[in-house]
Amino acid sequence: MKLVSEYFGCNVFNDEVMKERLDGEVYASLKRTMEHGRSLNMSAANAIANAMKDWAVEKGATHYTHWFQPMTGITAEKHDGFIAPAAGGKAIMKFSGKELVCGEPDASSFPSGGLRATFEARGYTAWDATSYAFVKDDVLYIPTAFCSYGGEALDKKTPLLRSMEAINKQVMRVLKLFGNEDVTSVKTTVGAEQEYFLVDKDTFTKRKDLLYTGRTLFGAKPPKGQELEDHYFGVIKPRVQAFMKELNEELWKLGVLAKTEHNEAAPSQHELAPIFDTTNIAADHNQLTMDIMQKLAKKHNLVCLLHEKPFAGVNGSGKHNNWSISTNTGVNLLEPGETPHDNAQFLLFLTAIIKAVDDYQDLLRISVASAGNDHRLGALEAPPAVVSMFLGTELTEILEAIETDAGYGAKEKEILRIGVHTLPKFPKDTTDRNRTSPFAFTGNKFEFRMLGSSASISDANTVLNTAVAEVLKQFADELETASDFNAALHELIKRTITAHKRIIFNGNGYDDKWIAEAKKRGLSNLQTTPDALAHFTDEKNIALFTAHKVYTEREIRSRFEILMESYCKLIHIEGRTMVDMAMKDILPAIDKYAKTLCDTILSKRAVCADMDCTYETETLSTLSTQMKIAYETTKDLEKELCAATKIVNVSKLAQHYKKKVLGNMEKLRESVDILETKVSSEIWPFPTYGELLFGV
Ligand code: ADP
Ligand code: MG
Repeated sequence: MKLVSEYFGCNVFNDEVMKERLDGEVYASLKRTMEHGRSLNMSAANAIANAMKDWAVEKGATHYTHWFQPMTGITAEKHDGFIAPAAGGKAIMKFSGKELVCGEPDASSFPSGGLRATFEARGYTAWDATSYAFVKDDVLYIPTAFCSYGGEALDKKTPLLRSMEAINKQVMRVLKLFGNEDVTSVKTTVGAEQEYFLVDKDTFTKRKDLLYTGRTLFGAKPPKGQELEDHYFGVIKPRVQAFMKELNEELWKLGVLAKTEHNEAAPSQHELAPIFDTTNIAADHNQLTMDIMQKLAKKHNLVCLLHEKPFAGVNGSGKHNNWSISTNTGVNLLEPGETPHDNAQFLLFLTAIIKAVDDYQDLLRISVASAGNDHRLGALEAPPAVVSMFLGTELTEILEAIETDAGYGAKEKEILRIGVHTLPKFPKDTTDRNRTSPFAFTGNKFEFRMLGSSASISDANTVLNTAVAEVLKQFADELETASDFNAALHELIKRTITAHKRIIFNGNGYDDKWIAEAKKRGLSNLQTTPDALAHFTDEKNIALFTAHKVYTEREIRSRFEILMESYCKLIHIEGRTMVDMAMKDILPAIDKYAKTLCDTILSKRAVCADMDCTYETETLSTLSTQMKIAYETTKDLEKELCAATKIVNVSKLAQHYKKKVLGNMEKLRESVDILETKVSSEIWPFPTYGELLFGV
């Protein structure tokens, strides 16, 4: 058996392979591209492409692909062979620098939100040299960004890279102010914890709703749910363990640092957490993880559900985005320091993040908005739709002391002066076990917990990076001109705390009282995707993104269209699936059962006129009542789905789906779920919640 340390990263064209296979000059120029974004000359690109190809071919690769992340939220790839004709009817394997650096997929069928008319259908893909290429399924994968011919972003990676550049620029200004001359660049880092469900594949395929939409649209509650809390961190079943083992191995071969695995709160729910990495790499790795989870599950006759809310009544799945900023010298800027100087710098970054989260609450909410995630946020299992920050008692007390010039710590009456005093050390462990906060400080990083399980982490991090960059820009503008740096710093931090402390909340985020309190504080509470997305194009948000060159206004407007449309399309498919299941399977099955009951009554009465038929008659009566409701609601649902096709304005359309379509879907589900509890399990046309949740 091979040791993990021996095969980790064996399918990755990583630094070690580069060093080994590239000549010194070429290696150095590639490193300059990776670290400082310098462009690569063609001869170096050719040499790299050739080395990559030779390495990939040795690993069995026959094709290469520019791997990208279009607005569908999943990844896209088109395979091209290395094959090229050679003399004598032979073939050789070829791969040029041009093919490595730039691709031109015909991209007419990817969502572009009007950015690209079909007559100029071509987009292009550009190599992201900072994320290693790898071999998977006999194909060399080259991580790329995807743009239109006019250079407009058609994907999730391009804005993320731009936002990393924006935050780098502003953090560097601030670091200069603190005299950090050795630092030449900073990168944001992310560890994305991934939740998922595993269900039996045979059971899965019998459910049209899971097949078409990834979630159950009907389903009565089983006698047992998650109330015993026996699944969380429970013993992992052998079949699941076998899946996890192979998943880890596959991920490790691809250089993904999969680290933690455990059972989650809901039955058949699990989690995988990797060790953090640079944000764009973490985003690529998270996509790979989701992809491999789904493929590998099938091999184990399982299906991996990444939907945010596959089952009503038990927890849905999210993705915790642990985020920090690191210098190229290896310093985590969100690590509280030991000296007054380090503390001052830490507090400045901390207050910048507080202000950024407060100023751009709406954008953070928008960055996690999807039809699926709407079922989770605020449903007492995930953070509410209100964005707030948890800092823990110690840190909150420190900020209060600064704000009010109050004495702090052991030397009671001493006033805490930034840049002069050392902060009292606070133990990391006490920082956060509050799982109800959407945005929690966890000792040396922030954990943003509103992301849905199926989402790309790029959107949330693009917003986070850009919002923090903007605040740091304002801070740097102010501090660069200050005559007394320490005094100006103290004043700035103090003022920022006063202005933005409303966003800090250390209590129970699931409590209704908090929602009322948040309203009093003026925090936004954007409950649904259409309500949230409506603010994407607010003037202040367009100003933010354009100022930092993360999105152009056209890109924002196109993304708004795409996101709204995808919300509508998803709900449309769900609505149609419900109609299909109700009309073709559920109502006919119940009718059949009703007939059995009628026949039984007639037979019983034939034997003896006053034979008791309470069970049959009472059941029949419930069936008739609920069937009528279900049938009428199905017709209403069909009508609203049809009405939707006539609405042109995308915002109005989304509101229609939210109010009219979802409303009827809920009503239909209610009556069908009652019916499910009344009919014989022999007749029910779909596997039950019990079979799905406890079947593995
Ligand atoms: P838990 O949340 O279970 O207590 P940890 O806090 O140790 O676990 O880590 C959770 C995730 O945060 C992991 O993916 C870890 O790699 C990541 N993480 C740790 N440090 C950082 C950092 N500086 N930047 C980004 N992510 C980090
Ligand atoms: Mg965590």
